[in-house]
Amino acid sequence: MNIPFLDVLASYNELKNEIDASISRVLGSGTYILGPEVEIFEENYSRFCNSNHCVALGNGLDAVYLSLASIGIKAGDEVIVPANTFIATWMAVTRCGAVPVPVDPILDTYNIDSKSIEKCITKKTKAIVLVHLYGQPVDIDPILELARERNLRVIEDAAQAHGAKYKDASIGAHSDIVAWSFYPSKNLGAMGDSGAITTNDSDLASRIRSLGNYGSSGKYEHVIQGVNSRMDPVQAAILNTKLEHLEAWNNRRKALAKRYSEGLSNTDCILPVVPEWADPVWHLYVIRNKNRDKLKIYLEDAGVGCSIHYPVPPHLQKAYENLSYRQGDFPVTESISQQVLSLPIGPHLSTDDQDRVIDLLQSFVG
Ligand SMILES: *Cc1c(COP(=O)(O)O)cnc(C)c1O
Repeated sequence: MNIPFLDVLASYNELKNEIDASISRVLGSGTYILGPEVEIFEENYSRFCNSNHCVALGNGLDAVYLSLASIGIKAGDEVIVPANTFIATWMAVTRCGAVPVPVDPILDTYNIDSKSIEKCITKKTKAIVLVHLYGQPVDIDPILELARERNLRVIEDAAQAHGAKYKDASIGAHSDIVAWSFYPSKNLGAMGDSGAITTNDSDLASRIRSLGNYGSSGKYEHVIQGVNSRMDPVQAAILNTKLEHLEAWNNRRKALAKRYSEGLSNTDCILPVVPEWADPVWHLYVIRNKNRDKLKIYLEDAGVGCSIHYPVPPHLQKAYENLSYRQGDFPVTESISQQVLSLPIGPHLSTDDQDRVIDLLQSFVG
């Protein structure tokens, strides 16, 4: 018995013929940078997100970084970020030379809210980066209202939320810019690195397009100092194929999440809380348990893959030593990092395997 945390190979196997054909199509096209396959992806993905523009990029970190760069974030600026997130959110800020100002999340939903953001706003604050963590949307409206009042920009890091909905509207254009990653394990995953932004602002879209391609406005015309962050057309072709299946795959995740929530209701695990306005896509199914470390070993010994998102929060990472944060500075995030466990979930987890995980969790005595 072996139940993987996520089986990305199974996604390939389900679509092998289509994916192989799409790769061959690119190889036979003679266009190996940008080109029609990437343009088609941009059209498809902006339609999927209900946004006016999509710019395909090299990866998710670049998507957040170029979003911040496009709104002029620079050295000396402060950018509000969640304390509990994947470190990429912070690194996008520091890559601009700006200072990340962390906000502890609400324990229930793991996401940050307008009240705690407001307390962190200073004269130097220029922007807020929201993260729809684990696939569950942030309560965006109050944050957009706060940002309007205080003249701040809002960027969404939606790397875990492809297809999620906030008050019935797809994540993709609520704020100034939405940044996406298509890292292989995401709900929409490529077979290598890639990312994108979506936005309704045509000026920001063209600025990001230029920044991601050496700051060019046309061939050998460079209007700003940019970087090289272009989506590989092979990845675009794979994503075009997989995008057609994303909704069905998200629905399988939703069904599994419902089964977990029902099957685990009588255990000592704390289960995910979903506000009524949220339609999450369950990138991760995250529980909390006070004996988390023992529980993880118990599951792994039984052949069940599980994971921790995230074991060491960014403020306690060596990379951010220079910010001089200490244990105790973000108590909610720190207790989350000690108690959370991500259970196996993905479009190819069978209900039999899931039942086995549920049985194990029921028999676990901390
Ligand atoms: C995956 C992820 C990223 C970065 O994506 P890459 O494509 O690996 O650069 C950024 N933010 C969050 C929240 C993520 O989960």
